[in-house]
Amino acid sequence: MCAAGQNSGSFAHYDYLGLAGDARVRAAAIKAVEDFGPGVSASRLVGGERTLHRAFEAELAEFVGHEAALCTVSGYGLNVSLIGHLLSSTDLIIYDEHSHNSVLTGVGLTRATSMAFRHNDLDHLEYLLGRYGTQHKRILVVAEGIYSMDGDLPDLPRLIDIKERYGAWLMLDEAHSIGMLGRTGRGISQHFGIDPKNIEFIVGTLSKSFLSCGGFVCASEAVIYWLRHTLPCYVYSVGTPPPVIAASREVLSILQAEPERVKKLHEMSRYALMSANSRGLSTGRAAGIGIIPILFPSTQAALHAFTILLEMGFYVPPIVTRAVSNDHARLRMFICANHDKDAIDRVFDALCVAAQKVGMRTASVDNVSMLPSARRTTL
Ligand code: PMP
Repeated sequence: MCAAGQNSGSFAHYDYLGLAGDARVRAAAIKAVEDFGPGVSASRLVGGERTLHRAFEAELAEFVGHEAALCTVSGYGLNVSLIGHLLSSTDLIIYDEHSHNSVLTGVGLTRATSMAFRHNDLDHLEYLLGRYGTQHKRILVVAEGIYSMDGDLPDLPRLIDIKERYGAWLMLDEAHSIGMLGRTGRGISQHFGIDPKNIEFIVGTLSKSFLSCGGFVCASEAVIYWLRHTLPCYVYSVGTPPPVIAASREVLSILQAEPERVKKLHEMSRYALMSANSRGLSTGRAAGIGIIPILFPSTQAALHAFTILLEMGFYVPPIVTRAVSNDHARLRMFICANHDKDAIDRVFDALCVAAQKVGMRTASVDNVSMLPSARRTTL
């Protein structure tokens, strides 16, 4: 059974393409275990490389639209290691304040000067670059393809214009956006119609749309060649296990053969956003692609609503302090290509009941339709 099957009450998993239960993906992983074993027992530089590592990296680079790619065993570890590796004490890193914890940890460990720009506020980024940029040798700007707490996007065309004018590198974390943003899932560059080669480092993980785990970085041939021989989390860590690569490779192949999955994901996401808003539920800044937060006035209200939903047969996990501040507590929904309008109607009706029970005002709902077994007529 996939993480969010047809009519599923679960909105907890970032299986955006709805492939977690796909027999082809499982078969690919099993075959890789049979062909190569469960692991590689060495760093890739010293005996841990198998044919499928390079094959997948070439296919991934082509899909993303960059010159080359390199995969590591951890998405989190990649961000930490890459930031530390790229920068030294004479450099500057400026990152979006809502960056993922892996970026914050990398920032905490680097000897470079670091500062955050207000979330998605590119005027503030530009101010910081103008004020401090000239005092440093190299500058790295970090942003995400889509932010996983709010489901909002940066203004990529402007971000590229700014980093070029200030001679900075851009590191864009496409952990969530790859496979789900853009007409055929090629990420935020495709969404905005931008050549990905304008971005120095596109990083991401195989744990979301690509269903397994491990990090990837896409960059120019020369940079990837250099990282392959120097990046600590690649050189000093084991090669990615073959079933992990094989599963993600199969997802990549299915994604390209079945672009309708991305289209369905976008349709269901738009429907979810519209359903939330028409019921008076706040979705904050969400763009309405894959990630829909439902905002609650406090951590306590969000936790209470979560429990009510669970009792009604819906799994929409709470995101509370410390991930977000107390007054920005939320239930976060991941929409996947396997969700349908009926499942979305039912969860939003249930959300309305939960919100009312915790004292929030929403559009009125017919409580009878809230029973888990009840089915509403879809709009
Ligand atoms: N970057 C972002 C933006 C993420 O959301 C995550 C994980 N949720 C990571 C990096 C780390 O990826 P992984 O969990 O695959 O290590």
